[in-house]
Amino acid sequence: MVDGTAAKPLRVERVTLDEIALPLREAFEAAWGGEHVRRFWLVGVHAEGLAGWAETVAGEAPLYGEETHAGLAEVVRGHLAPRLMAAPLARPEDATARFAPVRGHRMAKAGLEMAVWDWFARRAGRPLWKLLGGRGGEVPCGIVLGFAPPDVLAGRAEAAWAAGYRRIKLKIRPGFDAEPLARVRRALPGACLAADANGSYRRADIETLAALDRFDLDFLEQPLPPEDLVGHARLQSRMRTPVALDESIRCVEDVETAWALGAARVFNVKPGRVGGFEEVRRIAGFAGEVGASLWCGGMLESGVGRAAALHAASLGAFDRAADLSASSRYFAADLVVPPLELSPRGTLRIPDGPGIGVVPDPERLRRFRVGGFELNSAP
Ligand code: MG
Repeated sequence: MVDGTAAKPLRVERVTLDEIALPLREAFEAAWGGEHVRRFWLVGVHAEGLAGWAETVAGEAPLYGEETHAGLAEVVRGHLAPRLMAAPLARPEDATARFAPVRGHRMAKAGLEMAVWDWFARRAGRPLWKLLGGRGGEVPCGIVLGFAPPDVLAGRAEAAWAAGYRRIKLKIRPGFDAEPLARVRRALPGACLAADANGSYRRADIETLAALDRFDLDFLEQPLPPEDLVGHARLQSRMRTPVALDESIRCVEDVETAWALGAARVFNVKPGRVGGFEEVRRIAGFAGEVGASLWCGGMLESGVGRAAALHAASLGAFDRAADLSASSRYFAADLVVPPLELSPRGTLRIPDGPGIGVVPDPERLRRFRVGGFELNSAP
């Protein structure tokens, strides 16, 4: 039992889902498509006059993962929130067990589970990383650059490196790989550089991908489709660069399988994608045992989701820079005040107030809220 949470069980009185549409400063493009407005559910778990907060990461279209923004709300409404409110939760980990009978839908589960953790940490008056078993402090961060002409990318990469970001990650896809990587590597010979293909290559491209070794990448992320662990293992056996997996990883068992096959050496772990903080802790536990390397990815979250990810990224096995940027990188106005700012050392400080350490700003919430609903426990 984590101290501070033993006091009294959580009887969830109300679950709120506020639909938020947060305008992006510029469209962010990856191999699966692009977005101009980030639409997500701000999840609130309410009890004893306290609220725990989280945000969901499912996209409007099922292009990154299988879940969708609209479908997620139906799963929460019809299947997850009723289970959460059916009986008190003695500890935050109980939420995971409560949701276990529902197959998949990890992004939906994460929305509620992470809000439950935030609630317990707030009630204990402690920062969430302490409950999770993390180390607190600052998290080194890298930047992810969406598709743009190679010269434009080189300029953006130089600016990001000068701003202190610890790693520059380029989005690549078939026909757009060696040229932009060569251009950025020429501009920044000593920089930590990585590439993310979002599963856009096929096994027939393995030689092309293996040739990317010459750019001394920190890792090559998700070159092949999420289901193709055997293909990733073949590629890793042909390549010095560590292969990293993102979309392939839904849970700790996926990490174990990929590790056993030699499909990857590095794993991108996003709490909002794997079902929440408890699954992140399981993955971190396994990675610590076998020596796998982790980093915490971003999902274009507002400050609520990024603050939550920072707490998770302070667990011991997260030994590579997180893909988490300052608020101003993506949004003209964030949902939280004050915004998360990058230090000159290329780090984001983990907010040290209770829970995730940030709350949605009421004025911003009114401005960017486009819908929503609430669910009440039976009296
Ligand atoms: Mg990725």
